[in-house]
Amino acid sequence: MSQPSHKKPIPPALGKAAQRPRCPVCGMPAYSRSGTHPQCSQTAQDRLLRAATKPPVAATPPAPPSVPPAAG
Ligand SMILES: [Zn+2]
Repeated sequence: MSQPSHKKPIPPALGKAAQRPRCPVCGMPAYSRSGTHPQCSQTAQDRLLRAATKPPVAATPPAPPSVPPAAG
């Protein structure tokens, strides 16, 4: 049995994608005029809001300078 191998021709759309403006959020070529996917724009806004309203992180206070015990 010999089956003919299906060879897929490479679509010549690889060069066109480079001309598309890339979405700054996901990095994929966007087709909208603003250059950003509507859903990505929403995601970015949500991310900013979350970042602005996130609770303060309990940062550990800087340790006081440890004084080495005087040799005596
Ligand atoms: Zn996007």
